[in-house]
Amino acid sequence: MKQLSLLLAVFCALCVFPLLLNAQAPPKPDRQVAITIDDLPAGMADRLPAADITAMTTKLLGTLRDQKIPVVGFVNEKKLYKPGEVDERIKALQMWLDYGFELGNHTFSHASLNQVGLKAWEDEVIQGESVTRMLLSQRKMKLRYFRHPYLDTGRDLLTRRQAEAFLVDRGYRIAPITLDGWDWMFAGLYEDARKRNDTALQQQIVKEYLAHHDAAIAYAEQLSVKVVGYEPKQILLLHASNLEADHIGELLDLLRKRGYRFITLEDALGDQAYSLPDTYVGEEGSGWIEHWAITQGKIPQGAPEISKWVIDRTKELHMSTGTVPAPTEP
Ligand SMILES: [Zn+2]
Repeated sequence: MKQLSLLLAVFCALCVFPLLLNAQAPPKPDRQVAITIDDLPAGMADRLPAADITAMTTKLLGTLRDQKIPVVGFVNEKKLYKPGEVDERIKALQMWLDYGFELGNHTFSHASLNQVGLKAWEDEVIQGESVTRMLLSQRKMKLRYFRHPYLDTGRDLLTRRQAEAFLVDRGYRIAPITLDGWDWMFAGLYEDARKRNDTALQQQIVKEYLAHHDAAIAYAEQLSVKVVGYEPKQILLLHASNLEADHIGELLDLLRKRGYRFITLEDALGDQAYSLPDTYVGEEGSGWIEHWAITQGKIPQGAPEISKWVIDRTKELHMSTGTVPAPTEP
């Protein structure tokens, strides 16, 4: 009898212990993020044949649709005009809408407002609308989002405000970004390793790409609290690439582990943070949490750096292919 009650006591303790543990665990934060993907139909569209762009798009969109992730993709229409491939490239773009996603404008040829000047940049915005607007209107959708190439929003406040007024006038809502892990840099190296069938290097790049995103997101969360007072509905910047096509699922898992659920860009933009004062101007484009911080006279510090080997290999790659690396994102 004594043994039985001892057994019962141990059994009950075993039942209650996990409940106690659970009660003491901190609640999982309720974080929200909108996913945006730039440089459509593909970041490296000039180097990829249309068949590769179609395969990449199919894989990327398949994962996003299976996981019910809302996405807006931002287009550079210049990338459609490769002789003999125009139809297939437009079809790759159309797939985004067929799969239930939305498209926005990212200028015709990825022009920087800080480099080309206001007038030429406005022409770039208009030239970047034709095919995208046509595809959207076939589905009774409107072209309503714009993303600044290189996140360059103007070197001076007058230019910035004139560009913004121009965009509003044409019916656009600017799509800011708050989370950025510089996936384009990893994507360039990954593409090269993929072409050479160097699977060991591909794995190394993916590991680094995920680790850097984890660190960059943690940094943005902390900076959010310091600058906004809370973590707003975030907007993540990614790029259309084979790296994302092959591994975005792991990145989405990483975000879920941090407590994120996935929302539309429209929902994210409803957060009052996106109406905070923002007078940021500068040569270098940057994310909006940094914009708000600098507007408040705060200097954002402690952003994680990309591993030196990734930067060095990227430079080597650009030297060997004779291409000039972009100063910020491609
Ligand atoms: Zn871009």
